[in-house]
Amino acid sequence: MVLVKDIKEFRSMPVRGLDRQVIWQFNQMNPGLLVSIDELNINKGDGLLPFCQAAVRDALANFLKSYGKPITVNNAYRSVIAQTVFWNNRNLAGGMVGQPGKSDHQNGASIDIEEWPQVKDLLVKNGWQWTYGSRDSMHFDWTKGIEFIKDDTIKAFQALWNAANPGGQQLVVDGVIGDLDTSKTFQCINNSPAEGFANVGYPRTLRLTSPTQTGKDVGQLQLALRKAGIKLDVADQQFGPATDKAVKEFQTANSLNPDGIISAEGETRKALQAYLDTVVSAASATVTPQKK
Ligand SMILES: [Zn+2]
Repeated sequence: MVLVKDIKEFRSMPVRGLDRQVIWQFNQMNPGLLVSIDELNINKGDGLLPFCQAAVRDALANFLKSYGKPITVNNAYRSVIAQTVFWNNRNLAGGMVGQPGKSDHQNGASIDIEEWPQVKDLLVKNGWQWTYGSRDSMHFDWTKGIEFIKDDTIKAFQALWNAANPGGQQLVVDGVIGDLDTSKTFQCINNSPAEGFANVGYPRTLRLTSPTQTGKDVGQLQLALRKAGIKLDVADQQFGPATDKAVKEFQTANSLNPDGIISAEGETRKALQAYLDTVVSAASATVTPQKK
């Protein structure tokens, strides 16, 4: 299991699994506040989590209409998880890095645009703020019709942590991260698994890691792979090299990128879903108590 504090790169991709769980938890607690920008005419940067506040999405859609071609969005909304990775590795950063809890991107009203030299004037004309000028040239903010939601990603993490650690250390769900040197919440973020928790309401990312992932979700994956016709001798709830090989075989057989990764929103999970559903419903049938 790779923990958030183990990530030594200035990149949010390694924590994408946990990131998605925190956003899922956020949406449970604040339905409709964050919306997807997946459908807009944009190219997505490697680290982009394609979410922002509704007023920001509308402003971006209007801009794209007047610009007439796609732009590359490198960052939009950022959870406290990604911000922690950036903060931990800020010595590798080219520019400014906000503290977890304080970054503009945590409010879902900021975007970083790759083609900023070409689009800056038109964005400003459309009402966007070029907040930091040349100190952070790709960064633009939208300020009209938005709510303050920076604390809600922290609340979402705190609630997710509590659900994932029943009987363990529990956090107060107050949206406060406080002084990083003494913050329990910051410590728990750093001690969370980068691929996400095994036992919360949104699937973690499954893949070969060192040490290996174990759990019921891995066991279900192994049985689903078998149902899909992939040969897998052991179904031991451990994502070892044999499971990795089986996932890649399944991906190759289904014309998917054979990267061995099953993320919650990825194509491999979609292709496996019918088999997973069969496995999960069979398992719940066997534990149904018999009527006396
Ligand atoms: Zn930015």
